[in-house]
Amino acid sequence: MDIKKTPKKLNVKEKYRLMTRDLAWEPSYRDEKEIYPYVDYEGIKVHDWSKWEDPFRLTMDAYWKYQAEKERKYYAIIDAHAQNNGHLNVTDARYLTAIKLFLQGISPAEYSSHRGFARVGREFAGVGPQVACQMQSIDEIRHAQTQVHAMSNYNKFYNGFKDFASQRDRIWYNSVPRSFFDDAMSAGPFEFLIAIGFSFEYVLTNLLFVPFMSGAAYNGDMATCTFGFSAQSDEARHMTLGLECIKFMLEQDPDNIPIVQKWIDKWFWRGCRLLTLVAAMMDYMLPKRVMSWREAWNIYGVENGNALFRDLARYGIKPPMHWDDVEKSIDHTSHQIMLGLYQWKFGTAFHSWTPTASDIEWLKEKYPTTFEKYYLPRWEYAIAQKEAGGEYNNFGLPKLCQVCQLPTLFTEPDDPTQLCHRETDYEGEKYHFCSDGCQHVFEQEPEKYVQAWLPMTAMMQEPLKGDLAAWMEWVSLEPTAAGEYASSEDKANFEKWRKQVSTD
Ligand code: FE
Ligand code: ZN
Repeated sequence: MDIKKTPKKLNVKEKYRLMTRDLAWEPSYRDEKEIYPYVDYEGIKVHDWSKWEDPFRLTMDAYWKYQAEKERKYYAIIDAHAQNNGHLNVTDARYLTAIKLFLQGISPAEYSSHRGFARVGREFAGVGPQVACQMQSIDEIRHAQTQVHAMSNYNKFYNGFKDFASQRDRIWYNSVPRSFFDDAMSAGPFEFLIAIGFSFEYVLTNLLFVPFMSGAAYNGDMATCTFGFSAQSDEARHMTLGLECIKFMLEQDPDNIPIVQKWIDKWFWRGCRLLTLVAAMMDYMLPKRVMSWREAWNIYGVENGNALFRDLARYGIKPPMHWDDVEKSIDHTSHQIMLGLYQWKFGTAFHSWTPTASDIEWLKEKYPTTFEKYYLPRWEYAIAQKEAGGEYNNFGLPKLCQVCQLPTLFTEPDDPTQLCHRETDYEGEKYHFCSDGCQHVFEQEPEKYVQAWLPMTAMMQEPLKGDLAAWMEWVSLEPTAAGEYASSEDKANFEKWRKQVSTD
């Protein structure tokens, strides 16, 4: 009989070393440059990869165990939500507009992030970042999947969910998140980590997941809230990875500082432009609000941002270049975006509406210096048109910003009565921008942004040539998914079903 030997139990530190750092080896028949051709590409100098600290000390086996546990709980709740007609528990069907926008814009971004991390995990030359990127890559595909699964139940009952994947590629407002991720994925590995780890995770996720997920809970959406919480514990790890990457670059060589500063300036601006869609979600699309965009910005933008940049100041990093412009825009953007979405609602795969009397009271209270003065008159104009039996639509196509790809609907930072337009000539062509921030990004790398795919231009080219019906088909936009909420099938069905449930 064999005598079974009990293997020596490893302590956490040994286990971590064996299952992460010890997985690396010294190449013998290829040199480092051949194996990692992109680490020098951006000019970042690294002298010692072993200095990359992994603050979580998570091994792969612990990772899988932990994630599997979360998955089990998550799917139990999603099942219960589906079985009990959880979709009828949301405040009202206006809420679904926020969720449609999330599925079309954010979930595909999670998937892009998964691909991007798989790539940079391969391109970094140290085992610390390789393991961390691998875990984040798996997290991100899990986020995309859990989000699609959570929202698939709504897809059984409501319009605007089913073609999110092709809409991500083709419909005009989704080119905002899409171009953000295309930009990041076509950058070098270090810039990718600033774009996603810093801008998307640190600046955006804080504002997206925390207040927005509380909004989901507040509006009775257990499915969304559950994927939010399931992702939240990963987000803490992701933000730390982004910050660790910034500190690592700054500590490795002083020559890295100006490069990192340039990326922080660029990605902070790009992140804030992407956030304008979230601003509209928070101020207009949640029937029951948790906090205003301004309040969320004060907590998650200003307080967290100040703490971060105080911390980075010791390396010589300054707050992002266009910080003041962002601060000046906070009381305006949600109104500007929502007015834009409303006037182009024939071309959106979600519904929009004019604010109700109680919405207007709330907006006045939360935006005392801007709403009543600049935006209420425009809403009143649209409301009057509706009352007269018409509908306010703008069938003119918007001019898009070459960088953020939003319509150029923002105003001058110091004059909310003037639209902000910038243009740059490059190699005989004119390029248009929504702001100084986007123009600055373009001018740093014009050869990159002249290649941007712009949805409005695509609409005027072959094979669509400006034909609106052909365009709708091309972007998989059914008329039932678009337009005013008040006359939508979603509203009628929701109210009918809700009544049946409550009288049963
Ligand atoms: Fe994610
Ligand atoms: Zn722009």
